Amino acid sequence: MNKLSEYPAILLDIISPRRCLLCSCHLCHPLTHKRNRQNALGDYLCPFCQEQLDICVADSTELSQINKVFSGYRYGGALEQIIPAWKYHGRSEFFPLIEVLIRQMIFRLKILESDFDLVMAIPLTKSSLRKRDFNQALFIASCCANVLGLPLLKYHFTKVLDTPHQASLDRDARMRNLNPDVFKVARKACVKSRKILICDDVMTTGSTLRAAAAALKNAGANKVSAMTLARVE
Ligand SMILES: [Zn+2]
Repeated sequence: MNKLSEYPAILLDIISPRRCLLCSCHLCHPLTHKRNRQNALGDYLCPFCQEQLDICVADSTELSQINKVFSGYRYGGALEQIIPAWKYHGRSEFFPLIEVLIRQMIFRLKILESDFDLVMAIPLTKSSLRKRDFNQALFIASCCANVLGLPLLKYHFTKVLDTPHQASLDRDARMRNLNPDVFKVARKACVKSRKILICDDVMTTGSTLRAAAAALKNAGANKVSAMTLARVE
């Protein structure tokens, strides 16, 4: 039995049926299909496209400077379409799907609020932010802080140097491309002695995360762990 509060959404579904964000096939209608509350992904992706989400098997990795790295999915399959559509083309219909993916990975990987004091995002330089209009890592960090009930530190951590775009470099060049001086902690008191969970969208070599973690630790952070939506393996 549908609740009264769900009727406007059902009516919208009748007027404007929903389609899978990736393959555009029709999604099951809530009046004809009993919704599985645990599977909110079904509101955005068809079963076939959901199967193309490649879940990371290892639940954490260790990198120098970083205590733990949590990644939800392998960068490939559906994620290879979802992330660029969201990040570079700013397609607003992808934002709720990203939120669902973050929520599910936090529960699946058992990331605990008690292990951290605050959540942060890998910052963009001012010029990158102007070009892209939003920081995808900050969106992920904000979802993560919401789910875990932790404070989000949005300010006082900046990227001060523009570096060649990581995606345009080979693996060795990416490793050389980043050093802690790329990031700056403007107010060290905000991170001093804190256990920090820093978020980004995709981890490739981990050099960005390591440089950010080194900068935070130089500023006095106690522990730095990282969470990325996807990982290139
Ligand atoms: Zn589909």
